Amino acid sequence: MTTGRFKVVMVASEAVPFAKTGGLADVVGALSQVLASRDSQVFLFLPFYRSIKKADFNLRKKRDLFLEVRDKKEPFRYFTSSNNGVIVYFVEKDEYYDRDALYGTLEGDFPDNLIRFSFFCRAVLEVLVREELMPDVIHCHDWQTALLPLYLKTLYSDSPGIEKVATVFTIHNLAYQGIFPSEQFPLLGLEWKYFTPETLEFYGKVNIIKAGLVFSDVLTTVSKTYAREIQTSEFGAGLQGVLKMRSGELWGVLNGIDQQHWNPEEDKFISHGYSFHNLMGKWLNKKKLQISQGLKVGKNIPLIGIVSRLAAQKGFDLIEEVIDKIMGLGFQMVILGSGEERYHSMLKKMTSEYPQRIALNLKYDFPLSHQIYAGSDFFLLPSRYEPCGLGQLISLRYGTIPVVHKTGGLADTVKEFEPQTGRGNGFTFKEYSPSSLIEALQRALKTYKDKKIWENLVSSVMKLDFSWDRSAKRYEEIYEEVARRKTQKNTRNE
Ligand code: ADP
Repeated sequence: MTTGRFKVVMVASEAVPFAKTGGLADVVGALSQVLASRDSQVFLFLPFYRSIKKADFNLRKKRDLFLEVRDKKEPFRYFTSSNNGVIVYFVEKDEYYDRDALYGTLEGDFPDNLIRFSFFCRAVLEVLVREELMPDVIHCHDWQTALLPLYLKTLYSDSPGIEKVATVFTIHNLAYQGIFPSEQFPLLGLEWKYFTPETLEFYGKVNIIKAGLVFSDVLTTVSKTYAREIQTSEFGAGLQGVLKMRSGELWGVLNGIDQQHWNPEEDKFISHGYSFHNLMGKWLNKKKLQISQGLKVGKNIPLIGIVSRLAAQKGFDLIEEVIDKIMGLGFQMVILGSGEERYHSMLKKMTSEYPQRIALNLKYDFPLSHQIYAGSDFFLLPSRYEPCGLGQLISLRYGTIPVVHKTGGLADTVKEFEPQTGRGNGFTFKEYSPSSLIEALQRALKTYKDKKIWENLVSSVMKLDFSWDRSAKRYEEIYEEVARRKTQKNTRNE
């Protein structure tokens, strides 16, 4: 096997363009395509959600199969399709996936998520066995697919060729672990010996992500700093011990962005294309954004953009504490986000106090996100923690300068700008506190007011390369390494 020629099975609960709730979908979709374009054979497995069913993805083959679940035959089907060189498999089981949402409603997660996603993991392995499609690597992502490496070593351990298959598990966000009451453990079809503190037990409950952390051959996460952070009690969300034990097999690989999709020169969602050669279009987009958002129009009014899930992770508590100071500095703000109700009401209250200065859009709106990335001067992402973060990468591509908390992937991608040397690409604050955030914004504003320095900064960050190629290469090295270790282990066991 040589680099660039792997047979990879990607397993995830979401991937663009099929189903998306967050960055996970961007990453799985883009990584699959880039690996395929670099000569690997990539098979992507997804649940057949209602949204996929309704869209027209030119589905081809279908086959009826079943799983033995608690002495009962549970039927399911699968369809295939292809997307830019990736063969996509959809697992159809309507009672689990034919719903309006992927994971839950506003009231909370679906109560049967353990069954839904354990079934999905088993169904993927069943298809691989029945299709004789044993790959070099099965690459799983986040808790929804974490059981697969364990099923591979238990329920499927006798399947022909399975001993050669290496498993890679990527942590996109350790805060989401898939925790369920212990009474649901028998639904997994595993022996009780897998319900111990060394395996799936977690403070008396079942913790699904632990299956991936303990039983996959190699672990990765989406930035080097986050890989270090999650081994500490501050960021490890209770799993730092397990991760520390596996630190020799835990690597950080930074996410990329699809530079063709996020391209200010050819973006069909913005009215004026622009590039680092000619920033006129950026100002015209800013003007358009100010008008459409009901803000005062002015080229020199500093405009902050925010595009974010509304969740505790994303730092809105800090923004709330210093909003008066932010407004006092003369900033305008356009916010696009959706998520938890408490942030909806917090932001509504904040906006009502500054109706002409803050524009609030509580929704998921793809075109508007492009317009904000293009039309803002600054992109604010003060996350308490951030595994990688895509917003700051997209904003750099659009010459919108990020102001971020120095954590996880934000620390790895945004470096403090030094006006004297011209080094750096944004503004960062180390301590997670309202005063540090304000100080970063003050430094950003000071630089903004020096038009020459600012324009140089804007055009220089637009040239940075955060494309997927570099990361895909790193994943190929990891596949190579894990396959080598697997062969060595098998040889030793023979
Ligand atoms: P996370 O996965 O934690 O939400 P990331 O930064 O990894 O954060 O990815 C967020 C992605 O979702 C980015 O592509 C961002 O532009 C997009 N996004 C977030 N909120 C919205 C929204 N309300 N409308 C449109 N796109 C959004």
